[in-house]
Amino acid sequence: MSNDSLPVIGHWIGGARATGTSERTAPVYDPALGEETKRVALAAPADVDAAVASASAAFPAWRDLSMARRSSIMFAFRELLNTRKNELAEIITSEHGKVVSDALGEIMRGLEVVELACGFPHLIKGEHSENASTGIDVYSIRQPVGVVGIISPFNFPAMVPLWFLPVAIAAGNTVVLKPSEKDPSAAVWLAELFTEAGLPAGVFNVLHGDKEAVDGLLMHPDVASISFVGSTPIARYIYETAAKTGKRVQALGGAKNHMLVLPDADLDLAADAAVNAGFGSAGERCMAISVAVVVDGPHADAFVEKIASRMAGLTVGDGRRGCDMGPLVTRAHRDAVAGYLDIAAADGATIVVDGRDVQPDGATDGFWLGPTLLDDVSTASRVYTDEIFGPVLAVVRVPSFEEGVALINANPYGNGTAIFTNDGGAARRFQHEIQVGMVGINIPIPVPVAYYSFGGWKQSLFGDAKAYGRHGFDFFTREKAITSRWLDPSHGGIDLGFPQTNQ
Ligand code: NAD
Repeated sequence: MSNDSLPVIGHWIGGARATGTSERTAPVYDPALGEETKRVALAAPADVDAAVASASAAFPAWRDLSMARRSSIMFAFRELLNTRKNELAEIITSEHGKVVSDALGEIMRGLEVVELACGFPHLIKGEHSENASTGIDVYSIRQPVGVVGIISPFNFPAMVPLWFLPVAIAAGNTVVLKPSEKDPSAAVWLAELFTEAGLPAGVFNVLHGDKEAVDGLLMHPDVASISFVGSTPIARYIYETAAKTGKRVQALGGAKNHMLVLPDADLDLAADAAVNAGFGSAGERCMAISVAVVVDGPHADAFVEKIASRMAGLTVGDGRRGCDMGPLVTRAHRDAVAGYLDIAAADGATIVVDGRDVQPDGATDGFWLGPTLLDDVSTASRVYTDEIFGPVLAVVRVPSFEEGVALINANPYGNGTAIFTNDGGAARRFQHEIQVGMVGINIPIPVPVAYYSFGGWKQSLFGDAKAYGRHGFDFFTREKAITSRWLDPSHGGIDLGFPQTNQ
């Protein structure tokens, strides 16, 4: 099929599909087929202006709609999403490649944030102090910031937008979402579902595109805030550029997540965890475990053997066929990840399981790379220093608990980490000393529940606001402090001194 005959995924602006003004499009693949199945529109500056204008126009009425009405739309959206989640999961699998059960898993985690947002009035309440000075009350209210921009990565086309959308919308903001151009359909599907749930036109807009669309949002004077999730170099760029134009910004970046396995750990539990967290979604998760740090000794050899024997049972193939693991998102990414196996060999690592030998249950042209296990990886190797973002698990051996903690703390990323041990004292020391934003204790993927907040430390998060939970509602609202006096007989008098409360 020639590119011209492929369907083109358009924007969603003002409550309707919009083709946009640009001639530019990008390919969208079905990774399990290895085929380009669609194209996606890439926004021109005029399309950015149209999306922002739509959100700006919708803002005053949406902000002023009662909280009860906004909440009821969120409840309706929750019901629709829960009922139709299988449909969305199929869409995700067809563009991302992850297996359908995993796509459903990401939707369920997104649904948690929708459920949190149903009760948003409780989370944007202000404070009130009576009689701060005689007859004077001080109180705060939280108001929406305005038009907010959300820029999301390819690896969670539903969950990452849902980390922000329900919170931003419930709090009274209007949104322009720029999803990844690699798997853009989920965003439009969510927008249509919100419309069905009763969300007024213009409150939620989807703008497809690449750097041109992103830069348009970063520079647009009518965009009040930017929420970004993606790789660290782009996160840093987004943070610096948006801050320069005076916007509120949160930019979540890349990761290199370590699990530390102590000699007293339940090795079967730890091996299960390493396999699940290393190879789920083909390692294309920002909370994937990519490094197992093992305190050296006989149990370390046993741990590596247990992982390898579990890997032998994994099935790789088309995500619609009930396999454990699907393909990678694009051929270019698959080849880049496979390239790390050559680097590993050159740098002296042992390739225990080689994913290039995989026999997938899927089309020959699919973007396949099987689960890969590397032992004795040097921390100087790019296999350790780079975020590979694929099904490659590196084992690094260290002499002690202390050196394991020091290694993790020296890493520039600080998204997630986990310790596997049966020693409560060691676990407690780990949680205290580790310089990472999300920590698991015998839990490999410690993604916080919706009423906490998601975010890493160091180069995994630029800005000080994490996603969802308390942080999310604070990010998407501005506090206003009000000092009030209702006239009574005691008022009056001229006093040019600075107002004081000791009266
Ligand atoms: P990416 O940085 O390539 O792209 C993210 C978004 O930025 C996309 O919407 C993309 O269109 C846009 N973009 C890409 N290049 C740009 C540029 N030069 N200028 C402006 N915008 C640009 O990331 P990805 O490959 O889509 O996603 C994978 C990355 O995201 C990994 O690094 C992963 O760790 C990270 N991630 C982090 C978290 C987290 O919570 N910290 C969550 C999910 C993914």
